[in-house]
Amino acid sequence: MTDVIEAPAAAKPINHWIGGERRPGGSGRSGPVFNPATGEQTGAVDFASVEEIDAAVQAAKAAFPAWRSLSLARRAELFFRIRELVHERREEMARILTSEHGKVLSDALGEVTRGLEVIEFCCGLPHLLKGAMTEQASTGVDVYSIRQPLGVVAGITPFNFPAMVPMWMWAPALACGNTFVLKPSEKDPSASVYTAELLKEAGVPDGVFNVVHGDKVAVDALIEHPDVAAVSFVGSTPIARYVYERTTGQGKRCQALGGAKNHMIVLPDADVDMAADAAVSAAYGSAGERCMAVSMVVAVGGVADELVEAIKQRIPNVKVGDGSRAGSEMGPLITREHRDKVASYLDLGEGEVVVDGRESCPSEGFFLGPSLIDRLEPDAKAYRDEIFGPVLGITRVDTYAEAVQLVNENPYGNGTAIFTRDGGVARQFQFDAQAGMVGVNVPIPVPVAYYSFGGWKASLFGDRHVYGPEGIDFYTRSKVVTARWPDPATSQVDLGFPQTR
Ligand code: NAD
Repeated sequence: MTDVIEAPAAAKPINHWIGGERRPGGSGRSGPVFNPATGEQTGAVDFASVEEIDAAVQAAKAAFPAWRSLSLARRAELFFRIRELVHERREEMARILTSEHGKVLSDALGEVTRGLEVIEFCCGLPHLLKGAMTEQASTGVDVYSIRQPLGVVAGITPFNFPAMVPMWMWAPALACGNTFVLKPSEKDPSASVYTAELLKEAGVPDGVFNVVHGDKVAVDALIEHPDVAAVSFVGSTPIARYVYERTTGQGKRCQALGGAKNHMIVLPDADVDMAADAAVSAAYGSAGERCMAVSMVVAVGGVADELVEAIKQRIPNVKVGDGSRAGSEMGPLITREHRDKVASYLDLGEGEVVVDGRESCPSEGFFLGPSLIDRLEPDAKAYRDEIFGPVLGITRVDTYAEAVQLVNENPYGNGTAIFTRDGGVARQFQFDAQAGMVGVNVPIPVPVAYYSFGGWKASLFGDRHVYGPEGIDFYTRSKVVTARWPDPATSQVDLGFPQTR
């Protein structure tokens, strides 16, 4: 992260959003924001100081009592308005995503739409917050459980889904009655400020949703703040582990989603055209910068040669270009450094480089074309690392058992998929796979909004997945009430431990 001393004149300032208004940063530190398709610096984002983080948390804390007291009917009504506004402005939001992240407009629109589904799920908040009730647990005694919000909660998010991942967090958090401080990625921060403006327009009271930008200083101040009750994090595994350990070390609740290395197993009986289409879409969509991207194809038995050939033939048809231009299917990577790091895996001399994406991509901006490395062995660096770019690896094994072993021995366990026509093997794979999300002939099995999203192993620290029912659990704590009403006929002094029979 480079601190910008003097941003280009055209670079727009991107400020914090605290207490319902834009708040220009006062720390004197900022970071550059680029249009990755041109390589031009378009923005300078303020980096928050410890005092600015405190101001955001105080704004959220002040807004909490009224927000949690709002009737569920009123809160649900607000959520319907938020849903309408996000839906209405989805194209504008998508344009903001493309301008700072680089993903093509249709993909950006897809991101907003998947986030919108989480907001729609949250419109049912009165139902989601229902507790349980037991009448006559003991004579004249009723027992019931209620769900209550935690207070001020924080979200720390990665660059690759600048609108959707924050929606995974703030929508259920707010629906449950919490107030929120978001620290989005400093690489593409504008979507978060735009979201804050939309929420204000929808009628969400000032202070309920705040945005602070920055780097480690901001993250550390947020997770250490005594008034922050819980932290949701999505990003790379080392930072996820760090945030999880520091947050839970203070007795706070934390869900920290990390990186991934998603395997797609192709069995000899699979439909090879379908598998090749799926591999190309899932490996190169969003330039491979998706935590659910397929980065390794495991070709089982005799399918390998035909499959590699089918993938290779499809690659030249992928239209690489500026995401804001009609017809582009794959945009640039997020920064020049990241692009160069991803490209460096093609120079390691590992496996067989079948397609080198450097040979066919725009020279300006941070582009790298789809790349394919065949015969990657599990101990290769390009196999072990999460490359997070458009480099697809192929590994060849003889049996289903060897393929499953590769999935299960991998330190990550986000998503995985199997391509086959054999229902029995697919069912066995669902039983065997050590990953949180499994696809059967579906390469990117991101759960719908009424299930929950999360991986296993180094892909998730914590015991609650995000959004869906587990998201509601994460953002509430339960209270159990045991009650009886005065009845002189049953009243007596009894120093024994309360009994139910
Ligand atoms: P990142 O870990 O670099 O950054 C994530 C967040 O942490 C950002 O807000 C960043 O400012 C902050 N951060 C960075 N360095 C920090 C430090 N040293 N101390 C404290 N905070 C720090 O991740 P990224 O590059 O923005 O995103 C890509 C990663 O996110 C990939 O590994 C990808 O797999 C992962 N990801 C995972 C999921 C999932 O659901 N599991 C979803 C999306 C992205």
